[in-house]
Amino acid sequence: ESKRRGGDRLSRYCLGMVEKIAARAQLEVDLRVAIARGEFHLVYQPVHSLKHDDRLIGYEALLRWQHPVLGPISPAQFIPLAEETGQIVEIGAWVLEEACRQAAKLPAELYMAVNISAVQFHSPRLLSHLTRALAESNVAPHRLEVELTETAIAEDGKHIAMVLNAMRALGVSIAMDDFGTGYSSLAHLRDMPLDRIKIDRSFVATAETDKPSMAILRGLMMIARELNISILAEGIESASQLELLRRIGCDAGQGYFLGRPGPIAAADKETCLAATA
Ligand code: C2E
Ligand code: MG
Ligand code: MG
Ligand code: MG
Repeated sequence: ESKRRGGDRLSRYCLGMVEKIAARAQLEVDLRVAIARGEFHLVYQPVHSLKHDDRLIGYEALLRWQHPVLGPISPAQFIPLAEETGQIVEIGAWVLEEACRQAAKLPAELYMAVNISAVQFHSPRLLSHLTRALAESNVAPHRLEVELTETAIAEDGKHIAMVLNAMRALGVSIAMDDFGTGYSSLAHLRDMPLDRIKIDRSFVATAETDKPSMAILRGLMMIARELNISILAEGIESASQLELLRRIGCDAGQGYFLGRPGPIAAADKETCLAATA
């Protein structure tokens, strides 16, 4: 009796596995037609200066997939899949073009940040995709910022430096995303041509209660200042976190407290056009 129940459980487990694999394979197929069917869109999270005022300085473009049957699927779910299949290169090219099209409609003071995955970073087509997105939108290259994670630039230092320098030569800015969660962070600060460090939100989340987090944040502020790299805190969710980061000299911030990712409303554009007029 108990053995049979065990067997049932096992076959149910197997069935679960099969279903999971099938669902994954289906998602992979669906991903292939998602661009053509217009199922992707971008949302934009505002980035604010923490110096003097809370002035809007730019946006980060974040990818969303509206699946025709399953509804919205989180990038945390489909981006790793798209990386495995290599589809991220094509999807990433679309993201660059769409983000640049949006940037072209914004005041020239604002920058647009785009996430680049490790697979995309290592693709020989990245540079031509960047060039095309800039040329088609007529956006000044310095307004485009690419966000890389530490895993994207973990291996093969020579090749990485070459790609980064080529991007620099295009005039594009380079940010290191989720800083502090990868490895050999400090060597990256030393060796890579970076314009901005984005401190991972785990440090912001614990800054008020955890001494080591606070110490690391303070240290990073000093390092960034010495290296002349702009420093941004991710995941600011409260007024007190905002105040703390401002107090220790953080240049810029992003997070639900400052603004959630969403469409850029016409009203926002008018306000910031008025402010920059
Ligand atoms: P990320 O680049 O570090 O983006 C920040 C993520 O944190 C976003 O999640 C954003 O919605 C979320 N976030 C922003 N403010 C807060 C906050 O105050 N609290 C909390 N808890 N979360 C906040 P999202 O949009 O789900 O994206 C997740 C990740 O997926 C991104 O992390 C990025 O690594 C990746 N991703 C998103 N769009 C793209 C894309 O177009 N291309 C590539 N390659 N990766 C992308
Ligand atoms: Mg990012
Ligand atoms: Mg991040
Ligand atoms: Mg992240």
